Amino acid sequence: MTDTPAAARIRPVAAAVKGAPTSDGAGVRMTRLLGTPEARMFDPFLMLDHFDSADAGDYMAGFPDHPHRGFETVTYMLEGRMRHKDSTGREGVIGPGGVQWMRAGKGVVHSEMPEQAEGRMRGFQLWVNLPAALKLSPPDYQEFDADKIPREARAGGVEVRVVAGRTSQGLAGPVADGAVDALYLDVSAPAGARFEEPVAAGRNVMVVVYDGAVRIGERQVEAVGAVFLGEGETVEVTAERDARFLVIAGRPIGEPVAWGGPFVMNTREEVMAAFDDYRAGRF
Ligand code: FE
Repeated sequence: MTDTPAAARIRPVAAAVKGAPTSDGAGVRMTRLLGTPEARMFDPFLMLDHFDSADAGDYMAGFPDHPHRGFETVTYMLEGRMRHKDSTGREGVIGPGGVQWMRAGKGVVHSEMPEQAEGRMRGFQLWVNLPAALKLSPPDYQEFDADKIPREARAGGVEVRVVAGRTSQGLAGPVADGAVDALYLDVSAPAGARFEEPVAAGRNVMVVVYDGAVRIGERQVEAVGAVFLGEGETVEVTAERDARFLVIAGRPIGEPVAWGGPFVMNTREEVMAAFDDYRAGRF
């Protein structure tokens, strides 16, 4: 390998999306940033939804009982509270700044319902694929309130909340994820500040701007918008206005993906088997 100049190692923007308005569950309105015809998947990430509304009519219907198999769902709340309940008997409330990282594995049936009848509800749900070897593993979840998510202060007033993975400065988030070596950071940066973080080549990285505006390379990204970064070693984001954004990275799985609604497997037959098992009450 020959040396590359520093600038060449900064990950460029490969694609930028504003997302598509969508409705899911029993009629919750949100913006789908990943998992659309425009941005199908970004291995190992399958889907990313952003919900943000102060109108209870947009979220009150919630997500009544529904199944999942073959991947993980990550719910990160910014504002508001969501109660979840699942077929393994567990139940909890995710509040502002909290995260639930659920491994559906071989199957869970769960509900996700607003724990409020008014006020703003804002956050993200990410779907992280699992490799074949873990698709039928036992369901499990990790859940942490905001006070369990450590914060790292950086130069220029930048603050990094570490939800999953470990930063270059050694701060580790509470979520232990062995499957795709996930990094999930929530960064706030005042106007003019620059955030820089090495993310090893071989991991896919996306940046999701949800407040303000940033610049990545030559590209301006306004909230709400997501960019998928190309190859490189370092993520560099400059806040053009006071900004908040997620930096999400993971190791691509590189296996065939057969996706049927709430089930994501490797083959069509495995998806059909998931529907059969669910209908037969084997979840
Ligand atoms: Fe769900």
